[in-house]
Formats: sequence, C-alpha cells, structure tokens
Amino acid sequence: MSRLLDRLQHEIATLDAQTLRRRRLIAETPCAPEQQLTLAGAAAPRTVLAFGSNDYLGLAAHPVLAAALAEGAARYGAGSGGSHLILGHSRAHAQLEERLAGWMAPHIPEAQSLFFCTGYMANLAVLSALGGAEAVIFSETLNHASLIDGARLAKARVERYPHCDVQALDAQLGACEAPVKLIVSDAVFSMDGNIAPVAELLALAERHDAWLVLDDAHGFGVLGARGRGVLEEMGLRSERIILVGTLGKAAGVAGAFVAAHRTVIDYLVQRARPYIFTTAAPPAMAHALLASLDLIEGEEGNRRRAQLRARIAQLRAGLQRVLPAGGMARLAESSTAIQPLIVGDNARAMQLSAQLDAFGLRVGAIRPPTVPVGTARLRIALSASHGESDVARLVDALGRLVAQPWKEAA
Ligand SMILES: *Cc1c(COP(=O)(O)O)cnc(C)c1O
Repeated sequence: MSRLLDRLQHEIATLDAQTLRRRRLIAETPCAPEQQLTLAGAAAPRTVLAFGSNDYLGLAAHPVLAAALAEGAARYGAGSGGSHLILGHSRAHAQLEERLAGWMAPHIPEAQSLFFCTGYMANLAVLSALGGAEAVIFSETLNHASLIDGARLAKARVERYPHCDVQALDAQLGACEAPVKLIVSDAVFSMDGNIAPVAELLALAERHDAWLVLDDAHGFGVLGARGRGVLEEMGLRSERIILVGTLGKAAGVAGAFVAAHRTVIDYLVQRARPYIFTTAAPPAMAHALLASLDLIEGEEGNRRRAQLRARIAQLRAGLQRVLPAGGMARLAESSTAIQPLIVGDNARAMQLSAQLDAFGLRVGAIRPPTVPVGTARLRIALSASHGESDVARLVDALGRLVAQPWKEAA
C-alpha cells in the first residue's frame, strides 16, 4: 500500500482506539421517531425509536411537503441549471426570499433575505464577506463548526469569548479599535440546547457599534409564537442583526437563509463567494419550503410546537425523577428540543448509547472534538412527532441504565 494511504489508515486506527471513529447508519425509511436503520456491516435493518433528528416539528416526511416538492419539480424541473447570478435564480427562490423577509420585517428594519443551499454555506458566506481584513470577529466558544470555519475563511482577526459571558465580551469589544466588529453566536447551542443571552448581545452590539450575527438553526420554526425563531421569542429589533436560519431542521426540507437590512443583503450578493460560486438549489426545494412556512405559521405549526413543549417537559420531569443525584449523568439546563445528558467520559457515552440500542432506542453519543474534552454526552433531541409513550420508554430505559454502576467495556 502507498505511504499516503498508510498514513490515513493509521489515523483512522488511532480514532478507533480512542472510540472516536464515526460510523454511519443507513436509514431505510423516511425521517420519523420509528425508523428502520441498517448499521454498518449489518445484514438487515432494525426498527429503532430514534431521538436524534433535527426534525423538531416532525415535518421532514410530511405528505404536504412531499407533494409540494413533487409539484415544484413538475413546475420548475429537477435542477436550477446555474448559479443565482447566472440564470439559476428562479421565481420560487425569489418568492421564498420575499416571504422570509416578511417574517423578519418586525425584527430587522428594511429586512431582506437571501436563500442558500445549506446553513453551512450561509455561515461561510456571511463571515467571509463581512469579515474583511479591517474587521474583528468575536466568536462564542461553543459556536457551530460552520461559524468557526466561516471565521477561518474570513480575513478578519478572530477573538473567542467565553460561553455566554457577556461581561468578558463587553471588555473585549471595548478594547478593540477595529472599524468593523462582528459578534457571532449560535442562538440555541446545538450540543447544549441552551439559548444565548441574545438581548444582552444586542445591547453590546449597539454600545460598541458592532454587527450581531445570530445562527438560529435550532430556533427557527420552533421558538416564537409563530415559529419565526429567536428574534420573535425575545421580541428584538435592530438593523445590526444578521440572522441565519436553516431550513433543513424544523422546516423539514433543506437550505438556509440570511435575513438582514437590505444593504447587507445587497452586499452579500456582490461579495459572498459561497453564494456566488455555486449552483442554486433546485427551485422545487424553495417551492416545498413555501409550503413548509405555511405549516409553520398556521394552526398545524401551533399544534406541533405545543406537542414539542409537552414532550420536553415530560422528558425533563421524568429524567429528574430517575437520575440519581450526584450520579454519573447530568441533565443539561435546556428548555429547547435539545436535551443533552452529560456523562463526561467518551467510552461511557458510547457504552450508554450501545446499551440504549439494545432496548431498541437510538440516541447519539457526542464526543470530542464536537464537544469539549471531558463532556461527552448523549444528545437527546425531541420532536413534535414523538408520542408520550416514546418519551416514557426512553426515560424508563435510562432510569435502569444510569442506576447501574459503570463497567469498563471489555
Ligand atoms: C445544522 C447547523 C448548521 C448547518 O446547517 P445546514 O443547513 O445543515 O448546513 C449551522 N449552524 C448550526 C448551529 C447548526 O446546527
């Protein structure tokens, strides 16, 4: 074997030895709490009850959205045929952008929006375009990888600030003389579930003449009375806000958008390379997303948000009942659909996940580098499509498992 292949194999073997090697499951059925999954190397699929999707409202396999996707394909074809600046920008994309701009208009003066293929690309676009050489990016420690990569792509200097530490950030901003400052934070932290102190961050942005870039991947569709996300939830409004929302999570399809003052959006169209140099997503996707927005802001959205809240309350009450105080697992402080159970040790997290598998329950173990060393966890993600009995099953199984002393896996 060539030395190059040899090196890669050695690295993979090292990951394996540290129980850090990732393996994919193959989903044989549409996204739902009960799914047929095939493990790598397994001969046949197994039916499991999963608590890991980002499909918080249970819309990913909704027949109305599947039908809208088919209708969009019939009307617009399968592909866009080009980038947004060269013939790929369809009427469906334009309609979706207008609709999302309207959603954010109460929160961002002169709001416009820009549609992206993925949230990852939206974050790369915002940070690389606005974070020029004269800028400084103030990046929250627990930010999503796409924000970290966006900051790397930017020419700006990057300063990290401690998790939710508004005072530290205030001091860092005060000491900075750069003409352009960007405060960058997840709105809901993806591996912890807690909500950033967004009102305080915005106050700092006003005081220090900075932008506030908020990634609302886990809030859009879920937070706020009509599901418009963290800005609606907190009742905030400012022309300094640059909001990134993703559309593959609660919205159940794929893609993302940036909402900001129209001047910012104009600028991104001119300068954001991850926007300019890529093929526009299929217009049918935008067409399906318009149907998704209808569901999110309508009665069905209200009902699903209420169901999700009920499951969150049930899980928290149940786990607080069955987890031994001072035990090996700690439920994180979270009011959102993301409910991590922090166990600390990588192997312990893997073992718990495997033991749940034996009960037919699928909860992902999240390990470094996705989370800080020593904070490996089970990331329980709830959806409006989980039933009361689903959550009861998980609480019951975890109650049995965490009550047992931990044995080192053979
Ligand atoms: C999932 C996620 C993204 C990336 O969005 P995609 O549309 O999946 O590329 C960005 N930020 C956060 C916080 C996320 O959780």
